[in-house]
Amino acid sequence: MKKHNFSAGPCILPQSVLQKAAEAVLDFNNLNLSLIEISHRSKYFVEVMEHARNLALEHLGLQDKGYKALFLQGGASLEFLMVAYNLLEKKAAYLNTGTWSDKAIKEAKLFGEVVEVATSKSDNFNFIPKNFQIPKDADYFHCTSNNTIFGTQIHEFPESEIPMVCDMSSDIFSRQLDFSKFSLIYAGAQKNMGPAGTTLVVIKEDILGKVSRAIPSMLNYKVHIYKDSMFNTPAVFSVYVSMLTLEWLKDLGGISAIEKVNNQKAELLYNEIDRNPLFEGFVANKEDRSKMNATFNLKNDELKATFHNQLKQAGINGLNGHRSVGGYRASMYNALPLESVQVLVDVMQTVERGA
Ligand code: PLP
Repeated sequence: MKKHNFSAGPCILPQSVLQKAAEAVLDFNNLNLSLIEISHRSKYFVEVMEHARNLALEHLGLQDKGYKALFLQGGASLEFLMVAYNLLEKKAAYLNTGTWSDKAIKEAKLFGEVVEVATSKSDNFNFIPKNFQIPKDADYFHCTSNNTIFGTQIHEFPESEIPMVCDMSSDIFSRQLDFSKFSLIYAGAQKNMGPAGTTLVVIKEDILGKVSRAIPSMLNYKVHIYKDSMFNTPAVFSVYVSMLTLEWLKDLGGISAIEKVNNQKAELLYNEIDRNPLFEGFVANKEDRSKMNATFNLKNDELKATFHNQLKQAGINGLNGHRSVGGYRASMYNALPLESVQVLVDVMQTVERGA
C-alpha cells in the first residue's frame, strides 16, 4: 500500500529522485561503477558538486551577489559552532524560538558573549517573539526560520543592520524570501533536500575573516570556499541526491511553484484542525504557524486508539509529535503531495464521525 510519509526528518523525497539515486548507486553515468565507488576528484563527481552548488544559489536568487554555496558535513548541529567560530569576535545576538536555537546559543557561548534578544521558552516555544531590538554592536544576529519541533515559523524577518544568520534546516526551498537579507544560511539536507549527511551553507564571502582567533581548517568557512567544498572527501551520495532534488524543484518551476502547493497543504490541514472539534493546534498565535510542521492534539484521549488505527489503515507514517510537545506533528515538506494531506484530513473526519 502507498505510504503517506509525514515524518519530520529524515523524511519524504520525490519518488523520481529516489529512482535516479538508486540507479546511480548501481551504475553511475554508464561507467559500470557505482556513484559511491568513484573518486570524488573524478570529473564526474566534480561536476555533480559544482552543479549542486550552482543550483542552490540559483534557487535562492543569490548568483553573482557575492555568495558561495558549500556542502559540508556534521549536520546543522556543527554549524551551531562553526558560525560562532568564524563570526563571533566579541558579542552575538540570538533569537531563541525553540530547541534548535537553544542549542545554537549554547555553542555560541563557548566563543563570546551571547545576547538573547527574545525568547518564548517559558511558554514551551508556542509562539514567535516579535518586538525586540537587535544590538548594533553585535557581530551577527542568529535566528531559526522554522521550528521543526514546535511547529512555529518566522513569517516576517526583522530588519537587521548587522549580518543576519539563519538556520533554515526545516524550510529551505519551501517559500520565496528575499534571501539577500541573510549573510549566512545553513540547512541540514534531510528535510527539503536529500539524505542526511550533508549540510548546505550559503555565505556572503565579505563577512568572513573578521575574527582574530585561529580557526582549525576543517571548521574554517574560508578554507572550504577556497577548496570549492572539496577540502576533504564530501558526502558524495547526499550531495548527489541533493542535486537531484534541486533539479526536480527546478523542473517544477522553482521555489515559487512549490510554495503554492505548500500553502495549499497547510491551509487544508489547519482548516481541518480549526474546524474539527476533536482537535486543537499547539501554536498559540495562528500567524506563527509553520507551513512545514503542523503540531496538534487530539483532545479526547479515549479516541487515540481509534485515530491510530485509522492512520495505520490509511498508510499514514511519522505523525507522532516530538516528546517535548506531545500530540501529533504533520510534516509537510516539499515532496509531500497535497493528496497525502487530504488522506490525513479524511482520517480526522472519519474519527469525528465516530468510526
Ligand atoms: N536545526 C533545525 C531547525 C532542525 O530541525 C534540526 C534537526 O531536525 C537541526 C537544526 C539539527 O540538524 P542535524 O541533525 O543535521 O544536526
